[in-house]
Amino acid sequence: MLTKFTIAALAGDGIGPEVMREAIKVLRAIEKKFSLTVQITEAPVGWAGIDAAGKALPDATLAVCKQADAILFGSVGLPDRDPTIPKEERPERAALLRIRKEFGLYANLRPVQLPKALAHACPLRPERQGDGIDILVVRELTGGMYFGQPKKTEDYFHEEPQADEGATVIMKRAQRATDTMVYTTPEIERIAHVAFKAASLRRKKVTSIDKANVLENGVLWRDVVTRVARAYPNVTLEHMFVDNAAMQLVLKPTQFDVLLCENMFGDILSDEAAALAGSLGMLPSASLGKVSGELTFGFYEPAGGTAPDIAGKNLANPIAQILSVALMLRYSFGLNDAASSIEAAVAKAIGSGLRTGDIFSPHDTGAKKVGTREMGDAIAAAI
Ligand code: NAD
Repeated sequence: MLTKFTIAALAGDGIGPEVMREAIKVLRAIEKKFSLTVQITEAPVGWAGIDAAGKALPDATLAVCKQADAILFGSVGLPDRDPTIPKEERPERAALLRIRKEFGLYANLRPVQLPKALAHACPLRPERQGDGIDILVVRELTGGMYFGQPKKTEDYFHEEPQADEGATVIMKRAQRATDTMVYTTPEIERIAHVAFKAASLRRKKVTSIDKANVLENGVLWRDVVTRVARAYPNVTLEHMFVDNAAMQLVLKPTQFDVLLCENMFGDILSDEAAALAGSLGMLPSASLGKVSGELTFGFYEPAGGTAPDIAGKNLANPIAQILSVALMLRYSFGLNDAASSIEAAVAKAIGSGLRTGDIFSPHDTGAKKVGTREMGDAIAAAI
């Protein structure tokens, strides 16, 4: 088992630096408890990168990332900053998309957990929440409809329908848009392995999402996933059409463990699942790339953005960023116990009634409103 790691910590903009500070605090507590050596190099990104070095992803920051075993990322983008800057230079594109491409991040993992103590934050009635919701959405990130070629909008002429038979045919100029959905067997195999491995560490069930009744892609997806499943006899596989999955997520979310999705279905279903957790401040995410030996390169970030409305006020919920550290330990470094230790510490802080504003309800008896720093302190102390 490896015990030495190098991490690039890119806090970014808005609430990024506040929540990153708490995540590093928790990581330091884990380092001590599990006798790890973690080298953390902080570097600017987003508007912080533009201010420091004129680029959303400065060359020096990219170099720090290339030296690292994983990237712990805050968030980037401030809607009110310089609207004249070209789209491709804005942080959301210039930093995030560049990193995704540079590191070949092909698998996105979004766990959605609703602890019983936060039942009030969930839009579903309590009887639909069972003993708490705990779903992991595994989304393919580099293929499918978002990237398939051809992808274009073109002019064409179409025949106007005529009221009178025999009238002169009128051709009218119109536009036609084409997107192409393509998946190859290796792309499906690769993401399916990620889902089955993740399920092996959880409740051992994969629900594979497709539209095999309509799409060629769906038929191939289903075939390949079924084949990959044979290598994981301890994991149960079921197939579900995407439209039914969208419905089942709100009818009976407790039936799901790991949801395996292609890019577009995963984009949509992961947001639907995220709504069940009640606040963006609770949701971490992981994007995985190359495997080298025992390490899997990964990019770990909260699902939410820079929350400019609450930035700098000690109001942000640091849990999404802290749980991103747990994902990094589990999926990049194979340290499942250390990851579980963070998750248990978060559960303990929540269980003891601590709430940042986004998960606070006055009807929640025993709940105490705390700030970003206090929540981070409590979680670090519980490690
Ligand atoms: P947002 O996620 O920043 O905020 C939406 C709402 O959720 C706000 O009310 C915010 O206060 C709340 N929220 C988000 N995280 C929270 C937390 N940890 N604790 C408590 N409340 C939290 O989305 P937005 O307002 O649409 O975007 C703001 C900026 O962030 C934009 O520039 C956007 O492009 C950027 N953004 C970046 C990323 C990223 O870096 N991956 C992701 C999404 C949005």
